[in-house]
Amino acid sequence: ERTNIIELLKQLVTNFKMLYPDFQFIVDDDVKEDLFVNMYRNHLEQVFVNILDNAVKYSMDRKEVHVSISSSGEQVDIAIQDYGSGISEEDLSKIFNRFYRVDKARSREKGGTGLGLPIVKELIESYGGQVHVNSQLDYGTIFRIQLPVIEPESLPET
Ligand code: ATP
Ligand code: MG
Repeated sequence: ERTNIIELLKQLVTNFKMLYPDFQFIVDDDVKEDLFVNMYRNHLEQVFVNILDNAVKYSMDRKEVHVSISSSGEQVDIAIQDYGSGISEEDLSKIFNRFYRVDKARSREKGGTGLGLPIVKELIESYGGQVHVNSQLDYGTIFRIQLPVIEPESLPET
């Protein structure tokens, strides 16, 4: 199954803008043409919804989320950056573990199970992609997703 990743991301950002009108979502797309990945649309949607949901949930005063899209031709690179609570180096190594939540009490107030990121990692890696995270406590976090791009003609669109 092939999914237009650019179109999907823009649609999700539109939805998030409606849901969180006090947030600024800034999309910065170097890529002008459409890009397709070999991934079920609803799987890719789960990935980006989880990361965008975290960006909103763990932001504080600076309600700003940057989404940038770039492509090397063979690969598409999506970065989602927030200016929220950030994650310490010690916690960073654990956030992809099932049910892990930083600072249990504070995270509990926010709601959630701690399954978002393990699902993100599982899904992306099962399609031959990679997920990386950089974060600085009290400054913010950036998630990067890389996925192989496919030729638009090679698979039927859904
Ligand atoms: P769920 O996604 O299941 O609703 P969750 O958001 O707590 O719950 P994950 O998405 O797996 O679970 O994230 C794990 C933990 O990593 C979070 O509880 C939070 O402490 C931390 N975290 C994730 N994303 C961010 C972010 N953008 N900024 C700061 N902390 C984050
Ligand atoms: Mg989450």
